[in-house]
Amino acid sequence: MKKTKQVMPRVEQGPRPSLSFTEQRHGKPPRHLVDLSRSERRAMFANEGYSQFRADQISRHYFEHNCIDPDQMTDLPQTQRTELAKTFLPQLITKVRDQIADGGTTIKTLWKLFDGAVVESVLMKYPDRATLCISSQAGCGMACPFCATGQAGLTRNLTTAEILEQLRYARKAAAEGVFGESVRVTNVVFMGMGEPLANYSAVRDALHRMVDPVPAGFGMSARNITVSTVGMVPVIKKLANEGLPVTLAVSLHAPDDGLRDDLIPINSRYKVGELLDSARHYFVRTGRRVSIEYALIKDMNDHQWRAELLAAELNSRGRGWAHVNPIPLNPTPGSIWTASTAADTRTFVQTLTKAGISTTIRDTRGSDIDGACGQLAAEVVDREHVSRRAAQAQAAVDARIDAHRSEPQDFDSTLAAIAATKNGESDD
Ligand code: SF4
Repeated sequence: MKKTKQVMPRVEQGPRPSLSFTEQRHGKPPRHLVDLSRSERRAMFANEGYSQFRADQISRHYFEHNCIDPDQMTDLPQTQRTELAKTFLPQLITKVRDQIADGGTTIKTLWKLFDGAVVESVLMKYPDRATLCISSQAGCGMACPFCATGQAGLTRNLTTAEILEQLRYARKAAAEGVFGESVRVTNVVFMGMGEPLANYSAVRDALHRMVDPVPAGFGMSARNITVSTVGMVPVIKKLANEGLPVTLAVSLHAPDDGLRDDLIPINSRYKVGELLDSARHYFVRTGRRVSIEYALIKDMNDHQWRAELLAAELNSRGRGWAHVNPIPLNPTPGSIWTASTAADTRTFVQTLTKAGISTTIRDTRGSDIDGACGQLAAEVVDREHVSRRAAQAQAAVDARIDAHRSEPQDFDSTLAAIAATKNGESDD
């Protein structure tokens, strides 16, 4: 496929949500066993004067039995258990509260980190599986104007162990009957707080720990893990080369740069075309079909012509490489971020399907207890809690949105140009 031109950040006009990649200053969380790979753990145990074999034993307790309680580690010498757990398994996250929804099949947990930062995870039980939606950052620097997390900015990146601790707790709770029976957590989606690809090294190591076999990791299937992004194009390329066939989900929400620039601020750096090129490249490298997440917002992005444009952009890069998940929002009367009508949703889906795009309306579990990243439902921006700067940016976006509602005058020639540009190009 032809290389896309590097798009430079544009000069911002008027108040816009601003991207932030800089963490606020915090001390580092204590070192934890699962921050390290298996070989690093063994080396660390040796450095601390323990047998390397103990590293594997304690890793088995962690990854196989979801256990950090020294009293249950009966294969370790009694004299060493407490010290080993204290040294290598410090408490990193503490549960603040659970919220239960969907008749007890969805549990959202608020966690406090060692420095007081808070994150959330959501555990969902389905007939055939349980899925954990996980956070990768405390806060988020991507500044999407519809998202409460984005309005608050980035507090800090989570460490690998802080990400994995959300999973270990969920596995333990599910196995011990939090849903009324013992359930295995088979699926993980990085759709909680944060942009996972903005915290790449910790997320990459967490992914390795999730899929590596015991005692190196939990031994989960990479196919059951989804990493979501709003469009960090260079990092998508890195992930494609990682040898981890996880599913990539792209939170697109608009097929045209005009609207997407306002919905997803990073689009002013990496445009829709470049993002879809990198998503297609991900498919080619990993063989994993890419999920295109598209929250349907009434009269904002749910027009039939936008469905046609989306289909044209996807089809121009080949067939069968992407699957579109339209996401229904909660109806929120009076807000500009409100749900599409049933008729518009149907037309949008039918337009995609008719164009040969595989499309499934996404199940929005836990929608009555806030949405996760990419669902846009995050309390539809609690204006009480946003900064003045963010509120100004929000108001500016609200005002600009009107300009994106109408179909471009030269729409047919736009579609023809997309088809002409891409047809016949080969994958790189
Ligand atoms: S929608 Fe996702 S990427 Fe955007 S600000 Fe919210 S958490 Fe960050």
